Amino acid sequence: MLSEPTGSVTGAGALLSILRDGQARTRAELVQLTGLARSTVSQRLDALLTHQWIVPATDAISSGGRPATAFAFNQGARVVAAADLGATHARVAVTDLASNVLVERTADLPIDRGPEVTLGWLVDTLRDLLAETGGLLCGVGVGLPGPVEHISGRPVNPPIMPGWDGFPVPEWLGSRLGAPVLVDNDVNIMALGEHWAARPEVEHLVFVKIGTGIGCGIISERRLHRGAQGAAGDIGHIRVTSADVICRCGNIGCLEAVAGGASIASQLRKAGIQAENSRDVVGLVRAGNTQAVQFIRQAGREIGDVLASIVNFFNPSVIVIGGDIAEAGEHVLAGVREVIYSRSLPLATQHLSIRATELGDRAGVIGAAVMVIEAVLAPEAVDLTVSS
Ligand SMILES: [Zn+2]
Repeated sequence: MLSEPTGSVTGAGALLSILRDGQARTRAELVQLTGLARSTVSQRLDALLTHQWIVPATDAISSGGRPATAFAFNQGARVVAAADLGATHARVAVTDLASNVLVERTADLPIDRGPEVTLGWLVDTLRDLLAETGGLLCGVGVGLPGPVEHISGRPVNPPIMPGWDGFPVPEWLGSRLGAPVLVDNDVNIMALGEHWAARPEVEHLVFVKIGTGIGCGIISERRLHRGAQGAAGDIGHIRVTSADVICRCGNIGCLEAVAGGASIASQLRKAGIQAENSRDVVGLVRAGNTQAVQFIRQAGREIGDVLASIVNFFNPSVIVIGGDIAEAGEHVLAGVREVIYSRSLPLATQHLSIRATELGDRAGVIGAAVMVIEAVLAPEAVDLTVSS
């Protein structure tokens, strides 16, 4: 006797992917879109309804009181916890499955106090926030200000994070919060957030973070490109000068050591102007300090020099500039643009747009949520939930 194909509801995840565009669709439309039999579509819709991944679309209920015939993605089906942990401050949020922030908190939190103190604070804060929103937690996304090995989610020799090397962040958080945890470096999640929320139609995008350090996240064919280990995009340690400038990574002449926020602050101090960090630099630029404007514009040129090579190599259509220093606005963008347009190949710059982040300091936390949403709503993952 022939048996039903195993897991008769498998494929429900693929159906959900169609509904994620936010448009409610009827059974007939879904039959047409998928080429599946009407009975198969019905079976899969029932499974998705049972697990609350979709809801009947109310506007499709006919006046005669017949059952609804259209269905829509239920973005409130689960909640996502997201955290962007920076060198000195943190932003934490709970979002729905469309990355809408339901509740959010920021705090000064020095990452160099070590993983247990930092992550202990994160667990307490997330528990508070989750108590406010309610809802079923489906995953936790965390961005860290250092290199993260993609497969394990563990930081690897992060220069500004003593005690974090190899720390099992996903396991530590997962056992306390009772949900799967994904970890990535802060620039990758910023690239994800900016791409998803502000420019989903762009195929090839580079997000450059200019803060204390410098790094970039790469979107290739609409997906985050992490490279073999997760280290792709670490442009801050490309050597740009043979001058004797020591970088915090231990090497000499890195881009970050010449053009990062810490470097600009130190140049200002040498010029007799008080500045401790990238925020002070931005403050001085906003106050119209000409020396600070000159330094930041020069930093933009140094970064532009490296990006000109990236443009020739990768051919992005959009470069987004974010991070603390980006808040100095047009001055840094002007330096970056000046060099890229004069140094990159005309074909590569023909339609290239170089602009400031739209999400600002929320790019990271939105991206951390996106990382989880993409994993949770992957068709195979949804199939598993409905077949259990
Ligand atoms: Zn370096």
